[in-house]
Amino acid sequence: MRNMDIDDCVAPEQIWSEFTGMPGEPPLARRCGELFAQQLYNWQEFATAYMEMNGAWLRELNAAGHTLLAQYNPGRAVSATAAVDASAVRRRPCFLCPDRLPAAQRAVRYRGDFLILVNPRPIFSPHFTVAHVRHLPQRLAGHVRTLLTLAKDLGNDFTVFYNGPRCGASAPDHHHFQVCPADAVPVEKEWEKGRLVRAGKRTGVDFALRDLPGRGLVVMEGRDEGAVAALLEELIAALEPGGERGGEEALFNLLTTYRDGLWRLFLFPRRKHRPDAYYREGDDALLVTPGAVEMGGLIITVQERDFLRMTAPLVVEILGEVSLLAEEVEKIGEIFEIFTASAPQ
Ligand SMILES: [Zn+2]
Repeated sequence: MRNMDIDDCVAPEQIWSEFTGMPGEPPLARRCGELFAQQLYNWQEFATAYMEMNGAWLRELNAAGHTLLAQYNPGRAVSATAAVDASAVRRRPCFLCPDRLPAAQRAVRYRGDFLILVNPRPIFSPHFTVAHVRHLPQRLAGHVRTLLTLAKDLGNDFTVFYNGPRCGASAPDHHHFQVCPADAVPVEKEWEKGRLVRAGKRTGVDFALRDLPGRGLVVMEGRDEGAVAALLEELIAALEPGGERGGEEALFNLLTTYRDGLWRLFLFPRRKHRPDAYYREGDDALLVTPGAVEMGGLIITVQERDFLRMTAPLVVEILGEVSLLAEEVEKIGEIFEIFTASAPQ
């Protein structure tokens, strides 16, 4: 009989290894590497998906000196076209709940509350999903410290990203982060090319608003975990809409790195979930669902014809439609009150 934990329904055989953060434990990156190897050898469906992804076509595009990438990855069709409206989500079984995971899937249990899983429809090598053990809605509030600690535990070789429930997440009903290799998303190397629109500082955390092709980028950098977490929470609250949608999470995507003691956060404020072209009929439909990866400059296409017609101006148009431009972010005055009002003289 399964010895199920009442809280989270994780069966013992689903746990490949555990990371608790105790001193002397093997590094988390090593644990993840072991999981990846285990799944490659023991889960045929994943091994096939991974090999297909490794053969994915990639094109480099240039938008006014900025590098953008387009990947053709038909294996992502399910994720890119997932119905994420509330009624569709209610009708389908949740694919991130522990009792719904494929029989061959194993996890690194991370600091008790999360399972690190290989993504069965990868964009990257490797590509992990970090899912909460319980069926909680996708929302960053309350999980900011987990995000920062996870980035630190994974170290220099990985980047953690978050898609808001209406900003590319295909599981808006189950809280999760994703992990990709460092520098796999162009913005990590390209961000300084973006024109600096505004800058500020508070409690040792640097803030900058930059203008990238088609979208505004907010960059935060700091070495004090508590200070970075507090300012990120304030920033998200400042972006939150009032009125009818008040109380809902602001629309944004976030990538987080931890390199040699420094957290760097790339936050893209969003306008909407999918571009209008997604909903066109027939050959005019463009099946692109922008999330953190796309906002960071790597466009995933799931149809060959979309991949072939992808040009830098088209990518910039798609990103521009779903993003807030730098000058629009600049009008959200509350953001700058957080940083510059308390900036040191
Ligand atoms: Zn779930």
